[in-house]
Amino acid sequence: MPEGPSIIILREQAAGFAGKKIARAEGSAQIDKERLVGQRVVALRSWGKHFLIELKSFSVRIHLLMFGTYRINERKPDTQPRLGLLFDGGDELNFYTCSVTYVEGRLEGTYDWRTDIMSDLWDEAHVRRQLRAMPGALVCDALLDQTVFTGVGNIIKNEVLFRIRLHPLSVVGALPAAKLRELVAQARQYGFEFLEWKKANVLKQHWLAHTKRICPRCKIPFVLAELGKTKRRSFFCERCQKRYDATALP
Ligand SMILES: [Zn+2]
Repeated sequence: MPEGPSIIILREQAAGFAGKKIARAEGSAQIDKERLVGQRVVALRSWGKHFLIELKSFSVRIHLLMFGTYRINERKPDTQPRLGLLFDGGDELNFYTCSVTYVEGRLEGTYDWRTDIMSDLWDEAHVRRQLRAMPGALVCDALLDQTVFTGVGNIIKNEVLFRIRLHPLSVVGALPAAKLRELVAQARQYGFEFLEWKKANVLKQHWLAHTKRICPRCKIPFVLAELGKTKRRSFFCERCQKRYDATALP
């Protein structure tokens, strides 16, 4: 599943479409595609896993879901796009196996960029306040909550928890202040490392926990379990990742 940093790469690759005018829109998405014709792209933006094509009075929101892909100035053979945009001058943007919806009005009224781990508006104090307001949540759920850590997906979750030696079933309210601070800071830090590694095509080589069988610190098997509300796969070490559980709650 594409996580926040992957959408930054898409945004950068599509940056040249800013200012271009849509000549034709096609594809299987159940939206009013005629509405797009004649619209000029104001900006290409992102919020976590959402890719946003901002137009004058509304935006196109693309979510690549689990298996979404895209092609810029080319097409997948024998596959109808969910949304294909053809621009004046012949350039095109094609999206496959994704969700496409419209966002009405200004994006600032819809999205809060303070929680987006990749955003210039990222606000650690705000994110820590949000965490303190959910003391009963498991850290594995909090990390995947897109209103708390926008753009974090399962890879970032597993790697950050391993890096800061935190057990996924720890309870947010039981974390010492320094550990909470480290969790928030490392979610963003890992996001930017993910971005650089992904661009260099070496992301998987840097995984220490995600999809791994043996803890590189303890040389004992990782536990693999589907944890939390989302039941996403967690890879973790029972020895070096400390569990702060509810009994530690004040
Ligand atoms: Zn270990």
